[in-house]
Amino acid sequence: MSFINKVIRPDVRAVQAYHVPEFSGFLKMDAMENPYTLPSEMQVRLSEKLSHVALNRYPVPSYTDLKNKICQKMGVAPGYRVILGNGSDELISLISVACARQDRRVAVMAPVPTFVMYATFAQWAGLHFVGVDLRPDFSLDIPAMLAAIAQYQPAVLYLSYPNNPTGNLFDRRDVLALLSAMENCGIVVCDEAYQPFAQASMMDALPDYPNLAVMRTVSKWGLAGIRLGYLSAQDALLDEWEKVRPPYNVNVLTEAAAGFALDHMDVFEQQASALCGERAALSEALAGMPDVQVMPSFANFLLIRVKNADRVFKKLLERGILVRNVSRMHGLLENCLRVTVSTPEESGLFLAQFKACLD
Ligand SMILES: *Cc1c(COP(=O)(O)O)cnc(C)c1O
Repeated sequence: MSFINKVIRPDVRAVQAYHVPEFSGFLKMDAMENPYTLPSEMQVRLSEKLSHVALNRYPVPSYTDLKNKICQKMGVAPGYRVILGNGSDELISLISVACARQDRRVAVMAPVPTFVMYATFAQWAGLHFVGVDLRPDFSLDIPAMLAAIAQYQPAVLYLSYPNNPTGNLFDRRDVLALLSAMENCGIVVCDEAYQPFAQASMMDALPDYPNLAVMRTVSKWGLAGIRLGYLSAQDALLDEWEKVRPPYNVNVLTEAAAGFALDHMDVFEQQASALCGERAALSEALAGMPDVQVMPSFANFLLIRVKNADRVFKKLLERGILVRNVSRMHGLLENCLRVTVSTPEESGLFLAQFKACLD
């Protein structure tokens, strides 16, 4: 037996590495990236600012200025602070690590299908992931959720709000019911990655629910490349999560770029609102095609159902267009594809090719 087999966990060895294929030259409509870049005069000012960053120094690990700016500008509940992560992916990892006690089996729960990283990081932290099926219309199955909460007493319940990959926004009353049900057993993390496109947030519920945490990212907003997520909750909880955070997890270039972006919120807000308009146009165009079902979306992507998702996906690839085939992720997603909302030009290209891919 090689040392690798002896040393590396069997469940780690068993999985395939997450393969991100290179699709240079492809029309990328798979990753919910904002297709718009910064106006060129802003690029010049940003590079000027970045050129003065002290790359020889560690970041100041309290990140006080950036955190304060996020609290002021991103609508964090008054009196609440945030902790920062290298993307919200890292925050999910930290949340998992902090509750992964060794003396008993700890459960983490989420309605499914949802963002896969909740289950992945739960597994790597040694937690037991419990997925509770959504209803066929992708709403929360509250009786099933309440039963599962009573049975597993999860330490964490993740709610992607809006939900990836279904695109819908759970009913606020349902979310509040789950917060109450979780009050004595665990934390409810509302993952608001798509908040710029949703016009809805659970942030205002923070003061009423000491077990609520609200997580966001700048990725879908237009800064996926800088890797920055933030998480707000009551101070005592943030203090515990701070202990498991690598001290310099947000690098100085990200810190400077994020500070710059927050001083130019209007640019990002205009882009988000343009994308919301484009979402409506794309949705309408797709819904008018034969045998295409378009789900309502509060995010910067559309979940669509076609007759044969595998075939359409493959044909799109042959034509240089990359979408996400989620049809095998969960029974409720049979024959579903997830398409990122893009510029009118890219959407036009996509629509023309997509039409040709339907039989
Ligand atoms: C994209 C996405 C994230 C990941 O955000 P990063 O900050 O880029 O790590 C988190 N949650 C959901 C639901 C997402 O779709």
